[in-house]
Amino acid sequence: MNSNIAGSDANVDGSPARYRSRTKVLYLGAMLMQAPIPALPAPSAANLLTWYDWHARRLPWRAGPAERRRGVRPDPYRVWLSEVMLQQTTVTAVKGYFEAFTARWPTVGDLAAADEQDVMKAWAGLGYYARARNLKRCAEVVAAEHDARFPGDEAGLAALPGVGAYTSAAIAAIAFDQPATVVDGNVERVFTRLYAIETPLPAAKSMVRERVAALVPSDRPGEFAEATMDLGATICTPKRPACSLCPWTEACRARAAGTQEIYPQKAAKAARPVRRGAAFVAVRADGAVLMRRRPPRGLLGGMTEVPGSEWREGAITDPLAAAPFPADWRRLPAPVAHTFTHFHLELDLWRADVAATTAAPTGMWWSTVTEIDGEALPSVFRKVVAGAVGNDLPLRR
Ligand code: SF4
Repeated sequence: MNSNIAGSDANVDGSPARYRSRTKVLYLGAMLMQAPIPALPAPSAANLLTWYDWHARRLPWRAGPAERRRGVRPDPYRVWLSEVMLQQTTVTAVKGYFEAFTARWPTVGDLAAADEQDVMKAWAGLGYYARARNLKRCAEVVAAEHDARFPGDEAGLAALPGVGAYTSAAIAAIAFDQPATVVDGNVERVFTRLYAIETPLPAAKSMVRERVAALVPSDRPGEFAEATMDLGATICTPKRPACSLCPWTEACRARAAGTQEIYPQKAAKAARPVRRGAAFVAVRADGAVLMRRRPPRGLLGGMTEVPGSEWREGAITDPLAAAPFPADWRRLPAPVAHTFTHFHLELDLWRADVAATTAAPTGMWWSTVTEIDGEALPSVFRKVVAGAVGNDLPLRR
């Protein structure tokens, strides 16, 4: 199977893009014109749950099948926290943050009482910082208006700050065993393959939801949600799914046709625009770096940054006008690139080495070598600082 069928357009074989694109279409057409797929058995929730009983991932926020059989219930606070952290991020990336958060704030009441800047600092590096602010607000609402207990149904959960349709369904199912329909990216991949859904995402979302909803069992709906996620994460992977180990292999239309990797089909995305800017890293003689806080609203709102220019499409004509103070600013040869959801960013780096007695301008502060890793620095500014000072600082990336 050509793993690039549904993947990127990277020129892996050196052939011209036009030729590769045409080859891809012909290949895809040939696959879809194969002999009709014989009637297949319907997928069964029971088969999936039996597989899950043996192969469930051990996750720090999860009550596994053996624990549930012993009467252990998942903690809604931990389920909620994990689901918010996992949006747009992998389990591997989240585990350390989850353990640090729950060690420091073991209950929703503890998080509600936390200082917002401490929460932002602990979140730094996970991205999508509006979620960190909503996390704090949601904890405050649960503590103040719900007696520190999460609502037990989708509608009540969806009314909380920052809890959207997916998250409310996931918490309702996993923490409260409600028969909610939980569809994340892994589940979309599994079900578009299982039913050979050729409509591209996102238009196919409603079709996937219907198929998932029809399979949610009345007993163990929470474990069904966890099992479909686990199947997508460990067996029905984007490349080379392990169909011989899949509990739904007999029922899977894509497996029967040999077309697993062409699903899910995706509508072409618009190209991201490129914005440019300048970032100024002032380094004091003792190694401290000048920082400031971003405005509370908007992209990376309330997070920490180094001073810099606005970000916009087109050239920055007078970058030094955005420097925090006059100094011997040197432009560094390698700019920093970072991709946000809606645009690519290219930042020119400027560095100035200044005396240990240099005062921070109003609203800014010097972050010392021991303080800097604890700052609420988003990933793009971690790259900026690392790019300007090398590996001299112990920064999380
Ligand atoms: S049989 Fe293969 S493609 Fe189909 S759902 Fe299972 S792992 Fe995915």
